[in-house]
Amino acid sequence: MDMPDPLLPPRIAALPKAELHLHLEGSIQPATVAALTARHGVPLTEEEVRRRYSYRNFAEFIEAFKWVTSFLREPQDYALITADLAEHLLTQHVVYAEITLSIGVMLLRGQQPEANFDAILAAAEPFAARGLHLRFVFDAVRQFGPEEAMLVVEAAERHGSRQIVAFGIGGDELSVPAAAFRGVYDKAASIGLRRLMHAGEVGGPGKIREAIELLGAERIGHGIAAILDPALMDFLADRRIPLEVCPTSNLRTGALQRILAAMGSPGRGSLSRMLSGEQSEPEREPGPILRHHPLPALFRHGIPVVLSTDDPAMFHTTLAEEYRVARETGLSEPELAQLVAASFEFAFALPPEAARPSASVRAR
Ligand SMILES: [Zn+2]
Repeated sequence: MDMPDPLLPPRIAALPKAELHLHLEGSIQPATVAALTARHGVPLTEEEVRRRYSYRNFAEFIEAFKWVTSFLREPQDYALITADLAEHLLTQHVVYAEITLSIGVMLLRGQQPEANFDAILAAAEPFAARGLHLRFVFDAVRQFGPEEAMLVVEAAERHGSRQIVAFGIGGDELSVPAAAFRGVYDKAASIGLRRLMHAGEVGGPGKIREAIELLGAERIGHGIAAILDPALMDFLADRRIPLEVCPTSNLRTGALQRILAAMGSPGRGSLSRMLSGEQSEPEREPGPILRHHPLPALFRHGIPVVLSTDDPAMFHTTLAEEYRVARETGLSEPELAQLVAASFEFAFALPPEAARPSASVRAR
């Protein structure tokens, strides 16, 4: 077998891009985390922050996420990290992004999401003149349950900004069953929000189907477990429901290793080990495991894929790096261009000034 090209073609690197699965709180670069913790009386070096940004499994990642968000205490903290992320996105040629905000965590900490969101909007606004258009997803935490999730939808309704384009749920997908959130998603749809859910990341393909059939999810966060269910892959392709695929994230949380084990990839453990809940060690650096990511198989099955970073700072990645990884999994340059186009096609609220002629990408 030929070794896939490890380099990102310059033409792909230079294309304007959209990013649709990106958490604000997972995008805080170590230097900015150090500034935040110092602001709140906890001086840390960047090196100490980097050590916190290292995990052996999904549970440890969630712990690190809780730790970093514990320093987001005032609206001005949110303004700081929004500007930081926006500057980073400009380096990646991103012209449009849908940024997920952990409103459920703000509520847990007794904060006023509307005040934080006003600060975020004010910080984002000047970037439009520099060609970066941001929209927002209000996100609830699955394990906190449906009543807390409803408070997230109500916060979106109270604020009323048209820049809030969607409601989503993340967190532990093995906790509360999807059916419990039916009323929450109905309410979100009734106030004009699009519907998102993280599913099929550490959970099985059934979680993806439930998110779509019970809750009306219009895009799926991760969804890589679809590779284990051919009927579901047909369903996603027929219904044109995109998967927001974040390869490096999957590697760093161990989600990819679980999928590969379930697929029976040689040397990657066994289905029984996965089902027993035992997690394999996440790989430290991209390499042989990442190359086996199911991205090409999902994409070539006709399932729309939007390539994303998830939590770029916490997973030590960038959007350009994700495209490079996609290349390394075996996608051709025209296929990479199709991925770029898909992120615009499946955006929820693309302003005309950020729209780009995706047809010209396809034609070449
Ligand atoms: Zn995510």
